[in-house]
Amino acid sequence: MARVQCLHRFARLAPLKQADLPRTSKSSYNPAELDEPLTSLSGVGPTIAREAGKLGLSSLGALLYHFPHRHEDFTSSREIAQLKLGEEATIAAAVERVTLQQTRRRNLRVVKVIVRDGTGYLEAVWFNQDYLAQQLAVGDELLLRGRYEGSGGAFKVISHELVGRGEEGLHTMGLVPVYPTTEKVSVKRLRGWLGQVRPLFGRLADPLPAGLLSELGLPRRGDAMLAMHFPRSVEEFWLARRRLVFEELYLMQLALLAHRNHFQREREGLALPPAGELNGGFLNGLPFALTSDQERVVAEIAADLESGKPMQRLLQGDVGSGKTVVAVLTMLRAVEGGFQAALMAPTEVLAEQHYINLERMLAGSGVKTAFLSSRLNAGERGAILGQLKSGDVDIAVGTHALIQQEVAFRQLGVVVVDEQHRFGVEQREELVDKATRGRVTPHTLHMTATPIPRTLALTLYGDLEVSTIQEMPTGRRPVKTWLVPEARRTGAYGFIREQLDAGRQCFVVCPLIEESEKLEARAVAAEAERLKAGEFRDYVVGVLHGQMAGGEKQEAMKRFAAGEIQVLVTTTVVEVGVDVANATVMMVEEADRFGLAQLHQLRGRVGRGEHESYCLLFADPRSEAAVKRLEAMTATGDGFRLADMDLEIRGEGQLFGLKQSGLPDLRLARLIRDVELLKLARARAGELVGSDPELARPENALLRGEIARNFGETVTWLRKV
Ligand code: ADP
Ligand code: MG
Repeated sequence: MARVQCLHRFARLAPLKQADLPRTSKSSYNPAELDEPLTSLSGVGPTIAREAGKLGLSSLGALLYHFPHRHEDFTSSREIAQLKLGEEATIAAAVERVTLQQTRRRNLRVVKVIVRDGTGYLEAVWFNQDYLAQQLAVGDELLLRGRYEGSGGAFKVISHELVGRGEEGLHTMGLVPVYPTTEKVSVKRLRGWLGQVRPLFGRLADPLPAGLLSELGLPRRGDAMLAMHFPRSVEEFWLARRRLVFEELYLMQLALLAHRNHFQREREGLALPPAGELNGGFLNGLPFALTSDQERVVAEIAADLESGKPMQRLLQGDVGSGKTVVAVLTMLRAVEGGFQAALMAPTEVLAEQHYINLERMLAGSGVKTAFLSSRLNAGERGAILGQLKSGDVDIAVGTHALIQQEVAFRQLGVVVVDEQHRFGVEQREELVDKATRGRVTPHTLHMTATPIPRTLALTLYGDLEVSTIQEMPTGRRPVKTWLVPEARRTGAYGFIREQLDAGRQCFVVCPLIEESEKLEARAVAAEAERLKAGEFRDYVVGVLHGQMAGGEKQEAMKRFAAGEIQVLVTTTVVEVGVDVANATVMMVEEADRFGLAQLHQLRGRVGRGEHESYCLLFADPRSEAAVKRLEAMTATGDGFRLADMDLEIRGEGQLFGLKQSGLPDLRLARLIRDVELLKLARARAGELVGSDPELARPENALLRGEIARNFGETVTWLRKV
């Protein structure tokens, strides 16, 4: 009887010895083979090939990568005598007699076939497949997948194959792949095609060095790819997946690390002198001591600044963790070294906040700061540009207006980018490019208050060093967070009025309308009117939204900061950086529309002073995920834990930043499930790039080619070389 042939070798879990390793013979590998159209398969004409094109299957190579989304477990194979009642199983048997019967019911015809194996006879039945009566002949050998319905009863066939057609077992034996399909391109067709291209798997070149594979106990690429389609066991499938996920992450990490190396080799950095009097004076003037996390981060940065290589560091720390102080200390190092510094923020509001803070913190230090606002008139602007060029200004603050063509510095030593996730990878690089004078690239510190899991940071910011502030300054009280049911809305307004009467202030954030800032602005205006006329008629209500002119925004912020506005009705414009210690209530409407990171940011606007603070979330969550997210908000105030939960609830596809990161989608890897492989890939990539920074050695040529294919568009060093 025909048995399924196992054409593929497979790696063992135990480490292989080098000598045991199979080798792909170079002569048999012919990349052009993979570019062949599907019509080169037997039984595939132009029409069906076009259909397959809709699934992205334009070549044999693409077919190999068309992985099944699941497998059906057809592993139980039986002899006729062993069949158990009601059990689904596969049998191998020969045809004895074929009959076609019309049943009493109209439209229902049955093909009955008596089959036999060494142990007995069985009646196999198919419904409404008349053609089988013609097709099957006595003596034909069949593989039948079906269910045995009892002695004297029949074997109802689910799937069958004729042995001797080269497809043995494809549809009935073992773990049978189930593919994404279209109406015309059925699962059976796909299985058949993959059966035909089986030999190609064995000839696939493997970009991963054999030594690495044997060390990690991973199978070769071709074997793994074949096992993704036709695994002989569940374990084999998982090992295959492991190998391919590792490959995916390893290539990505290689690309990122090589990119960083290249960047650092190409550019010259400034070796800044050790921290001096400005730093010391600033630290002494602070009304608090640095937390140990802040101290550690300052030391990490100091090492970069003194290294002579341009710093490329990401500083992540939750809202209120005290990143600004670290940024100021870093910028002062530039000034002490005789250079300038620039602080770039994503919005004008935030930039101005930073500027005001800086002025206050550096008062009396002799350090000259300037704010390159969009509201300056031509004369004022010209004057500031002149001072930047001459070096009269030490620290400049602004939005991305800072990187415009006509802005020239005498020499920038440090650039700080706040809330850097708001700028894409491209802008990040553009900033560094523009700030580069001659070959000297300034040190760059990127800051983000969107805490992301460390593993995700490795992917998103894999070309940056990462410093994290985990610990909050002492004395900060967690913000009490409640999910308020609609029935208690009136009570909530009463609570807010109590806070206002006690001298505190409140934010009311209107629903997020992603499509239109205009609509959002209208919602803000309407809500403000409603509150002025109703719940807060005895209080001063102000508005702040993205459609207001810069000057109006500024005015609103100033009045809120001064306590003149008691209730600020607003949008996510206040999400970042707004620092009003007297504000104790953050009320968010339709909170389920916001992402966790955003909600956390909004919540971070309160609880910044000595008073107990509150975050009131109103929502009518429609999905279970939304409920989970909101519950997470009430459960923890720790941004990193929230980030982890967000990742789990929404999956990485939805995570803010990943989409804009400019990195290609991961085909198989899932960052939650594959954390351990990501770390492994990172470590191994680091080792390789350490010894062969540009992957120039001949044995790494395949790797390099693979990276170019996958990341060519995003990895500039590949483009340049
Ligand atoms: P972030 O930018 O990380 O959100 P900030 O730098 O604005 O946070 O700091 C938030 C507040 O905490 C500021 O008022 C700052 O003065 C204060 N702060 C910073 N570091 C400390 C510290 N070590 N101890 C006490 N307060 C601190
Ligand atoms: Mg900040």
